[in-house]
Amino acid sequence: MTPKKGSFVIEELENVQINIGKVGAEEQILEGPTPRPEIIGLRNWDYRIIDRYNPVYTPTGDTCDFCTYGKCDLTGNKEGACGIDLEGQSARQALMTSIMGAACHSAHGRHLLNYLIKKYGEDFKIDVGPSNLQAPLTETIMGIQPKTIGDFRPVLDYVEEQLTQLIATTNTGQEGAARDFESKALHAGMLDLLGMEVADIIQISCLGFPKSDEKAPMAEIGMGILDSKKPVVICVGHNIAAPAYILDYMDKNGQFDKIEIAGLCCTAHDMTRYNKSAKIIGSMSKELKYIRSGIPDVLVTDEQCVRADILKEAQKLHIPVIATNEKITYGLQDRSNDSVDAIIDDLVSGKQPGVVLLDFEKIGELVPKLAMKMGPIRKAKGLTALPDDEEFKKLVAKCTKCLQCTRDCPQSLPISDAMAAAVNGDLSLFEILHDKCVGCGRCDYSCPADIPVLNVIEKASQRVIREEKGKMRIGRGQIGDPEIREEGRNLVLGTTPGVLAFVGCGNYPDGTKDVYDIVEEMIQRSYIIITSGCSAMDVGMFKDKDGKTLYERYPGRFVKGNLLNTGSCVSNAHIAATTIKVASIFAGRKTKGNWEEIADYVLNRVGAVGIAWGAYSQKAFAIGTGCNRLGIPVVTGPHGTKYRRAFIGKPYRKETWNVLDGRDGSVINIEPAPEHLMITAETKDELMPLLAKLCFRPSDNSLGRAIKLTHYIELSEKYLKKLPDDWHIYVRNEADLPVAKREQLMKLLEEKGWKIDWEKKKILEGPLRKVDVSFQPTNVPRLCKEVKK
Ligand code: SF4
Ligand code: SF4
Repeated sequence: MTPKKGSFVIEELENVQINIGKVGAEEQILEGPTPRPEIIGLRNWDYRIIDRYNPVYTPTGDTCDFCTYGKCDLTGNKEGACGIDLEGQSARQALMTSIMGAACHSAHGRHLLNYLIKKYGEDFKIDVGPSNLQAPLTETIMGIQPKTIGDFRPVLDYVEEQLTQLIATTNTGQEGAARDFESKALHAGMLDLLGMEVADIIQISCLGFPKSDEKAPMAEIGMGILDSKKPVVICVGHNIAAPAYILDYMDKNGQFDKIEIAGLCCTAHDMTRYNKSAKIIGSMSKELKYIRSGIPDVLVTDEQCVRADILKEAQKLHIPVIATNEKITYGLQDRSNDSVDAIIDDLVSGKQPGVVLLDFEKIGELVPKLAMKMGPIRKAKGLTALPDDEEFKKLVAKCTKCLQCTRDCPQSLPISDAMAAAVNGDLSLFEILHDKCVGCGRCDYSCPADIPVLNVIEKASQRVIREEKGKMRIGRGQIGDPEIREEGRNLVLGTTPGVLAFVGCGNYPDGTKDVYDIVEEMIQRSYIIITSGCSAMDVGMFKDKDGKTLYERYPGRFVKGNLLNTGSCVSNAHIAATTIKVASIFAGRKTKGNWEEIADYVLNRVGAVGIAWGAYSQKAFAIGTGCNRLGIPVVTGPHGTKYRRAFIGKPYRKETWNVLDGRDGSVINIEPAPEHLMITAETKDELMPLLAKLCFRPSDNSLGRAIKLTHYIELSEKYLKKLPDDWHIYVRNEADLPVAKREQLMKLLEEKGWKIDWEKKKILEGPLRKVDVSFQPTNVPRLCKEVKK
C-alpha cells in the first residue's frame, strides 16, 4: 500500500464522529530490508551459511522414483531422466522433509486461529507476559508488530502462500540445484518457526496459559500416575482445542476426582497449561504401551504424533476412539450432527469402534459421560493386551533366541537375553529394556514364534511402570523481556557458558534416562537449560536420591543454572525467539523485516545450541532447519542420520572461517565457532563435549572463553577420557585458558610450537588471532561501517 499524505479541516467541530478504519499490523512501519521474504528473499544469507556449513548427505537409496520417468539410477555421476543428480535429489528430500514439518505446525496454528477468532473475536489482545517484543519471529520475518489475534491472519496467509511456492519447486522439472533446494529448505524451516509462534501466542493469549511464568506450577507425569480404578480419559496429539472443552465440562461438573484425565505427547503439555488438574503420561513412545495396558477407557485424538494404528489397537480392547480433528479421521463416521446420547449408545455397545466428532461442545460433554459408562464395563472385564502371569511364563519360554526381533528393533535391544532371564524369574533385564524401548511394536511382527514381544516387555516391567511418577514444571511460554535484560550480557560475552535447548521427540538411542543425565550435568555447569515437547517431559521423569525431579531442584528463570520448560512442540518458537530478543533488547538491533542481521548476530554472538536427542519427525527436522537459518547450531541423536542431511563445518578449510569486523570491514580469520550447524552425535559421551564446543562464539570475551573452554576440556576428559584434539584452536591469549589448568595447558601449547614468556606467564606467539573486546564479527558486508579496499 502506498501511503498518502494530506490534511483535512472540519470547521465548527461539533457533533462530528470520525471513524478511522482499523490501523492493522500490516500498516506499521518497516525497519529492515526483507519484510515477508519470498522463497529466494534470504538466499544470500543461506548461501553464506551453506558455504561455511556444507550440506553432507547420507541418502538411504541411490535411485529416484518420484515420477513416471523413474525409477532412475543416480549412482556415480549419473543423472535421472529429468536431469537431477543424487545431490540434487538428496537436497530435494531435505526440502520436502522441512516443508512437511512446517506445514504440520502451521496447519495446527491455522486450525487454532480460525477457532479462537470465532470464539473470542479477531480483536482479542495478545498477551504473552511482561514483554514489549511480544512476537519476535513475526516481527523479524513479517516486519509487523501484531497486537491482536486477528493480526496473525496475514502472517499465516504468508506462511501458507510460501509453503505452496516451496512445494511447487519439488515437482519434477522444477529446481535442479542442490544449493537452492537447501536455501528453500532453510526458508521452510523459518516458516516453521513462524507458524509455531503464531500457534503458541494465540493459545497463550486466549486460553489463559502461563505467560512467561518462571514459577508455573508442577504437573504430574509418568505411566504410573493414574488411578486406574477410576474411568480414564487419554487425549493424544498436539491440539488443545477439543481437550479444553473436556476439561471445562469436567471442571464445571466437579468430575476431577471421579475421572482421571491425562495426555500423551504435546496435547498433554497444553492440557496442563490450560488446567493444572490434567496429568501427563509421556511422549509418543508411550502410546502403544499405554493403550495395550488397557488402562484408557476413552481415547481422544487430535493431530500430530498420533499412531496410525490407534483405532486398531483400541478396538481390540473396546476402547472407543473420538477423533476430533479433520487431519486424522481413521475412516470413522462423522457423527458431529448427532445427539451425544445416540453416539454414546453406539460406542458403549461396540456398534461403532469410534467416531469423528468435530463439535467441541459435544466433545466436552460426550467424553466424560462416555468414560463414566465405559470405565465400569471395561474394568469388570479386565480388558488388557498384556498377558497374565501364566501366559507370560509360556511366552518367554517360547523364545528360540533367533534374534530376529533384535535385528528389526530400531534400538537393537537384546530382547532374547531378557526372555532367557525371565524364564528363570529374573525380570531386571526387561525392566531395563522398558525405558530404552520406543514402543514401536516392530518386534511383534518380526517374531517367528508369535511372541507379542512388546506386551511381554510391558508385563515384565509392571513394577517400574507403577513407580514411574515424575513432575514437570508446566510450560511457561516465552522468556520475558526483563529476563533477557538481566541475562543478555552474560550470554553474549560468554560468561554464561551457553543456552542448551532440549527439544523434540522420544526416539532416544539409549533410553530417556540419558536426557535427564545430560541436563543434570549441564545445569550443574551453569548452562541455561530450556526444554520443550517430549524432551521436557522426559527430563521430569526421574528423581534424585531425595525423591526430587530436576524441575523441583532448579528454578525456572532465564539465568545460568536454571531449567525452563517453554511448553509444547509449538513453544519451540519461543526458544528461537529468545535469541532474537537478545539481539534486540540487549544489543538494540532492529528486528522488523531484518532476518539476516538478526541471524548474523545470533550466529556470531549468542551461544545457543539445540539438542534434538530423540528426534524422529519431519517437524523436528523443520525446527532444526529453522534454527539453523537463525544461526543456531543443532545436534541430533544417532537416529538423526536418517534425516539424511547435516550442515557440517570444516575447520581445516581456513577460508570458510573469515568474518568481517563490523567497525571497518576488515577480514578476520576466526576459530571455527560454532563449528557445525546441524550434526549428529553417536553417543552421549560424544555429545557432552560437543555441546560445550558448539557454544563457542567469536565474540566471547576472555573470561567467557575461559569458562567455555573449561567445560569443553572437562567434559572431553570425563566422557572421552582425553583432552580434545582442537582445544588450542580456541585460545587467543593466556586469559582464555581455564585458570585451574593454565600452566599445564601453556606447557602443552609450547610443545605445539607456541612461544611462551614464562616469567610474565604470557603467550607471545601461536594463536590464530588476538582478543579484541571491541570486535564486531559479522558475515554480512553491508553491516560494516566502512569496507576496506
Ligand atoms: S517395540 Fe521396543 S523392543 Fe520392540 S522393536 Fe520397537 S523399540 Fe524394539
Ligand atoms: S524374534 Fe522371537 S523367538 Fe526370536 S529372539 Fe526375538 S523373541 Fe525370541
